[in-house]
Amino acid sequence: MSNSRGYYGEFGGAFVPPGLEKILKNLEEEFLRYKDDQSFIDELNYYLRDYVGRPSPLYFAEQLTKKLGGAKIYLKREDLNHTGSHKINNAIGQVLLAKRMGVKRVIAETGAGQHGVATATACAMFNMECIIYMGELDTQRQALNVFRMELLGAKVVPVKRGTRSLKDAVDAALEDLVENADNTYYMLGSVVGPHPYPLIVRHFQSVIGREAKEQILEKENRLPDYIVACVGGGSNAMGLFYPFIEDKEVKIIGVEPAGLGLETGKHAAPLCAGKPGVIHGFKCYMMQDENGNPIPTHSIAAGLDYPGVGPEHSYLKDTGRAEYVAIKDDEAVEAFKELSNTEGIIPALESSHAIAQIIKMAPKLDKNQIIIGNLSGRGDKDVQQVKEYIKNNS
Ligand SMILES: *Cc1c(COP(=O)(O)O)cnc(C)c1O
Repeated sequence: MSNSRGYYGEFGGAFVPPGLEKILKNLEEEFLRYKDDQSFIDELNYYLRDYVGRPSPLYFAEQLTKKLGGAKIYLKREDLNHTGSHKINNAIGQVLLAKRMGVKRVIAETGAGQHGVATATACAMFNMECIIYMGELDTQRQALNVFRMELLGAKVVPVKRGTRSLKDAVDAALEDLVENADNTYYMLGSVVGPHPYPLIVRHFQSVIGREAKEQILEKENRLPDYIVACVGGGSNAMGLFYPFIEDKEVKIIGVEPAGLGLETGKHAAPLCAGKPGVIHGFKCYMMQDENGNPIPTHSIAAGLDYPGVGPEHSYLKDTGRAEYVAIKDDEAVEAFKELSNTEGIIPALESSHAIAQIIKMAPKLDKNQIIIGNLSGRGDKDVQQVKEYIKNNS
């Protein structure tokens, strides 16, 4: 899918200053060296099983299926992983890579704090120094996650420049990397950023799709008709989609956050409503102004609130292999309530976007058709926010 320069069609690449170019080239070489190394694979699988709790179940949502009266709905339960989402798959993979590279200091950026917590968790277990850059505004909005990271032994650095949010945290992390490249590993949290990060993160998240494929073949003796996942940067979606890309009979649907509605401009849906451009060192669909600068985004789900998207998703959209749709805040909240009530599973607000799409499409499909939805995370972190949303919107 991607050539050696990290392009997916016209998307991807690495638009970075020369200092960073060398570091990324070295990272690519190290990754390619270890990813197929049997002792690396064995070590990764050991931690995925005994620490993360994999394989995650592929659960037949019988009650929701009955209620909707259409296609059979299966949920890939990434919410049951240690720390409660798919993010730990990538954090464990990259921290093992850092360890092989002989690096003892790990840095990461975080917006809502989820990737920061996953990184801090992996670093705690492997006894690595961990520094998390976080926009100062985000440290205030997500104070509990800051405390979580500190409990896990990480140092959280509030970034006070610019808009004091995710973009500035990425810039600060990249500067740190260029300055401290000999002893530092930069752990990126989604299938975004310059090459080779989209490739590395997809690799470590693909365990989701590999397991789902094996599990559905065992349960139903055939592949699903549809696979559905929410798309922020796009890592849980790429993880589910990638092993199915060559199976042309499987339809692929990515779900972006429509926020208050695509027509309002208050959303974070670059694939549905953006244009190609360059952000954070790579080319993708992005939400931008006339000058190509990223514009403010909105989603009720903090983890989906990003103006760019993975280059491979941009490519899958243009080639037509995947379809991208958008779900609004209120629809996501309805799905959050529906899955809690019908199945006894409280989904993350991010994952609720995928659930909302499934609730829309399942009734129109035949009873013998199969949908697999990725339940990327659990919703305990979102209960307070949903309570307030319902209070303010009723
Ligand atoms: C961070 C997050 C997402 C969005 O990130 P992707 O890279 O698009 O997967 C989705 N779901 C949950 C639960 C998350 O924490």
